[in-house]
Amino acid sequence: MSELRPVMPILLREARKREKRMARLLGEFVRCESPSHDKAAVDRLGRLVAREWRRRGAKVTVLRVADRGNHIRAELAPKKKSRGSQILVLGHLDTVYPLGTLEKMPFRVRTGRAWGPGSFDMKAGLVLALFAVDALRAARIPLRKRLVFLWTSDEEIGSESSRRAIESEAGRSEAVLVLEPAFGHEGRLKTSRKGVGSAELTVTGRAAHAGVEPEKGVNAVHELALQIARLMKWNDKRRGITVQSTVVGGGTASNVVPAKASAQVDIRIARKSDAPALARKFRSIKPILKGARVDVRVGAMRPPLERSAGVRRLFHHAQALMRQIGRNLGEAITGGGSDGNFTAALGVPTLDGLGAVGDGAHSLNEHVLIRALPERAALLAGLLATI
Ligand SMILES: [Zn+2]
Repeated sequence: MSELRPVMPILLREARKREKRMARLLGEFVRCESPSHDKAAVDRLGRLVAREWRRRGAKVTVLRVADRGNHIRAELAPKKKSRGSQILVLGHLDTVYPLGTLEKMPFRVRTGRAWGPGSFDMKAGLVLALFAVDALRAARIPLRKRLVFLWTSDEEIGSESSRRAIESEAGRSEAVLVLEPAFGHEGRLKTSRKGVGSAELTVTGRAAHAGVEPEKGVNAVHELALQIARLMKWNDKRRGITVQSTVVGGGTASNVVPAKASAQVDIRIARKSDAPALARKFRSIKPILKGARVDVRVGAMRPPLERSAGVRRLFHHAQALMRQIGRNLGEAITGGGSDGNFTAALGVPTLDGLGAVGDGAHSLNEHVLIRALPERAALLAGLLATI
């Protein structure tokens, strides 16, 4: 990392001139709905985003995916040779909202806020990246490294189709900047994220008449309840482990001893090293009631983003940039995962939560603070120019 040039005042000035344009482009992106499971819809937004990058002279590559939206890769190269060093900027095109959500929560701007599905998580992030590049150009600050912007289509559903691309770009990068929403209205960055996993328990018992001869049955719901009570003891606040049964089901009728029951379990860990032992614990689950069977499926784990030395260095760099414009930048830990978890797990310094300031992700209340957009664009631009 080089000496820190005083780039922020001019970047902020240039970004502020573009505040209205940022809000307008955000409106265009939000109105183009893009639920993860709808390829055609996500591809529509991908085309809009690609158009904006081509307008800025980026080399745009569409990474085609058959059953999910395509990923968009935009590259900007410095004028001078950069000796191969690269910064990766990550974001996603998809949202958790089904098509038609706009009818009940239309894009609107009021009291300094922009509302709408996916505005905060994270279409405003897509906008910030574009205007960070504009601010750098207007301020005549040259790029010193190759910048790769990767906009993926399936972050909200686990990044199965994008993980390979994310990891291979990260492997070529010296830093990864993630435009997921900031934490809180003071815009804190996310320097630590929990790892996210899942498990599913399926219990098989035996049906019988619940009143006449219950002793002939094996109650799958009872077995599941006993298992869930046991799982609750695996929560470990001190180590940052949470195990939460989230979706349960079972039984067929109120007078039948149920033969089937199942539970989905959400698993979060703060330390990568806790993953194998926890997975082993799940796999070694044995039935408690006589005659019951318990099948356990443990899903793939998104590793935690740990606050490594590289993460801390990047964060302090961002803090120093914000001080140039008289701002205090804070940091936060979150239980939610992002694609930054993958890149940090590879050992590449990753700074997350660089996106918009706002609130209400994944809810009717989702919005961004418009006056914070220029500041966030300037911060991203400052990082791109000085890392
Ligand atoms: Zn997101």
